[in-house]
Amino acid sequence: MVNTFDLTSLLRENIRELTPYSSARDEFSGVASVLLDANENAYGSPLERHYNRYPDPLQQQLKEKLSTVKGVPPRNIFLGNGSDEAIDILFRAFCRPGIDNVILVPPTYGMYEVSANINDVAIKRVNLTTDFQLDLDAIAETVDANTKLIFLCSPNNPTGNSLHREDVETVLANFNGLVVIDEAYINYSRQKTFIQELTEYANLVVLQTLSKAWGLAGLRLGMAFASEEIIEVLNRIKPPYNINQATQELVLEALDRVEEVNAWIRETVAEREQLSEKMRELPFVQHVYPSDANFILVKTEEPRHIYEYLVKQSIIVRDRSKVALCAGCLRITVGTPRENSILLEALVNYRTVN
Ligand SMILES: *Cc1c(COP(=O)(O)O)cnc(C)c1O
Repeated sequence: MVNTFDLTSLLRENIRELTPYSSARDEFSGVASVLLDANENAYGSPLERHYNRYPDPLQQQLKEKLSTVKGVPPRNIFLGNGSDEAIDILFRAFCRPGIDNVILVPPTYGMYEVSANINDVAIKRVNLTTDFQLDLDAIAETVDANTKLIFLCSPNNPTGNSLHREDVETVLANFNGLVVIDEAYINYSRQKTFIQELTEYANLVVLQTLSKAWGLAGLRLGMAFASEEIIEVLNRIKPPYNINQATQELVLEALDRVEEVNAWIRETVAEREQLSEKMRELPFVQHVYPSDANFILVKTEEPRHIYEYLVKQSIIVRDRSKVALCAGCLRITVGTPRENSILLEALVNYRTVN
């Protein structure tokens, strides 16, 4: 792997030549008093708040504000209807169906695989090592001329750990395609974000989301941070109005309240450590993996039994025991202190019930 990264040659030809849809809001985005260009209902909406106008296709106000929160210029930010939309658009921009391939490093987030399958893009799997880190030699051997994307998730879902920074940098420095680092859980991590490395690596895409620490999963706002050239490509492919007006307005409001979010993050991290410790004391728990996220991966003797027992108590966790390297494992989200003690109490009683 020698890095001779060239964005233009990486792009699919049809995307390189694409004339994007030009919306009414693209052609006129200034201030005017009579807007008769978009076939909207000029009278209003049957709601308190009016949503009769199409939203800003490029979400400029929102990006300005995110820019100050994240320390990245707006031109390096793409907004998607969840990170899942950014993932799908990356496939559509760079991967020729039936020809190109991507590298995934299981166990990891399931959407990369689903998106690859939807787009008819082959998957090359290079399992993480037993301590859930990158197998750099195997990745280097697996890359071929048609490998366009490598997805790395750090902190990783479902294992919870962060990838070693030097390993991620090795991949970035040696791969000619795009390295997508999914930082959905970065707010809970001891590691720092890769956003600041955008000036260093032309082939870097960092994904973040407001669905986890920011508590806005229902609004659907995912972010991709990358070079201006990559962002421009994503913007040309995306549906014109992919971020709805309500989301744009509500997120602008939410971004003013970062202190509340930071307090939750501190509490979640403290709860995570406490929950991990208490789980380690349970007789049927074999291992609680260290976590940099808002969930823990717990290895047990009988994951399915425990899962079903908890369902009967109206407590739902995620059974990950069928996933590569995760035999016996349940993934448990850190809840409120009350939820965590309900879970622990149920688990303490597990043996006696069965
Ligand atoms: C939850 C999660 C996301 C979030 O996806 P959204 O579409 O933004 O809600 C992205 N990546 C990973 C690894 C996740 O666990």
